Amino acid sequence: MGKETSPCWNPKIEMMPKKDLESLQLKLLRSLVSRVYDSSSYYRQRMEASNLTPDDIHGLKDIIKLPFMTKKDLRDNYPDKFFLAPKRDIVRYHASSGTTGKATIVGYTRNDIDAWTESLARSLTSIGLGADDVIQVSNTYGLFTGGLGFHYAAERIGAAVIPASTGNTQRQIELIKDLGVTALAATPSYLMYLGEIAEKMGISIKNDTVLRTGLLGAEPWSEGMRDRIQNWLGVKGINCFGASELAGPLWSECSYQKGIHIWGDFAYFEVLDTKTHEPLGLGEKGELVITMLQKEAFPLIRYRIGDITSMDDEKCECGRTHPRMARITGRVDDMLIVRGINIFPSQVEYSLLTNPEVGNEFQIIVERKSALDSMMVKVELKPEAFTDSIAELNKVRERIEHKLRSTLNVSACVELVQPGTLPRFEGKAKRVVDNRKL
Ligand SMILES: [Zn+2]
Repeated sequence: MGKETSPCWNPKIEMMPKKDLESLQLKLLRSLVSRVYDSSSYYRQRMEASNLTPDDIHGLKDIIKLPFMTKKDLRDNYPDKFFLAPKRDIVRYHASSGTTGKATIVGYTRNDIDAWTESLARSLTSIGLGADDVIQVSNTYGLFTGGLGFHYAAERIGAAVIPASTGNTQRQIELIKDLGVTALAATPSYLMYLGEIAEKMGISIKNDTVLRTGLLGAEPWSEGMRDRIQNWLGVKGINCFGASELAGPLWSECSYQKGIHIWGDFAYFEVLDTKTHEPLGLGEKGELVITMLQKEAFPLIRYRIGDITSMDDEKCECGRTHPRMARITGRVDDMLIVRGINIFPSQVEYSLLTNPEVGNEFQIIVERKSALDSMMVKVELKPEAFTDSIAELNKVRERIEHKLRSTLNVSACVELVQPGTLPRFEGKAKRVVDNRKL
């Protein structure tokens, strides 16, 4: 797909020589650390506890001297104890989705909103989107940052925006068809669901619409799912990344789809060993730790976001020099341990989608019987693969179980279910039901 180099939104920054980018990052880091040290009792206390002053940051590598921040720190400082900007400079509030506890309130100054929009505008341009595009935003609008994040960035690059938000899938499909939507922002599971409903309405996304780009994120997904979206729907699946605590959706892959371009003037990413927290090398998979370099209202330094990934520092084929992040393969807190084996739902998805009979939905159920964990995977079949022949179904089930065992190194019972029977999600898919009392 598309080998032509797409235009740059901000070529001076995006194509900046690596050395210059690193000097800029160091300058921004030093000024951030001085600012929080001077104006936040929270940061000053934590730095003093580690015997640190801003003068201890000589190079980018010195970032490892600074203490971590966790979701718990954010919750403990609810609602606005972390805020550095005076109240009158805050122009907007959002809240994280709160799926793992109390919501985190994030405030934005005008410059914060502007930097967020600039970041995603660069990304959308790098995919080849621009003024000729019609972008439907099917992420939730409101306290969640997905909707407004894509909305502002799409407007900034001159595209027409349809603020569809979530829900009313039939109307969403009509809008895609009638208004000539070329790109859609959504969770990957929602795009798949939309494709299924469209088929029931007699509409093929591939043949009857001009939708060609999916801006997909907010939940872990696999290359298998990307292949399926691209082949079945004819929609190029672009991996996007961000989080409410950081600002919202901020970064995406470019049209080459080889890792997410992380704009280095906005953020510094580290990947650490999940147990020792020692820095890992390029290409090595571990826990992602994020420092936002320019935020005014709600700074984040060495934030343990909980995602598992790796980084690449090679210049991209598109010419952009900023570091690239690989696909998120799981979350530290999403990780299941079954009989001592670490399992990510994305691995299960990857294995399932190699079977042509398997539909788009699955659910992992973990139980503990006496002392033994057992894992069951409910798998929805495609309508054309569903049959009344028990012998046929058993053969399919055994093959899926065999493949799962070789991917996960632990056995799982598979239960095949009829198409359309597992729960659908308009936001983040909930793939795991853990019934163990740990
Ligand atoms: Zn690129």
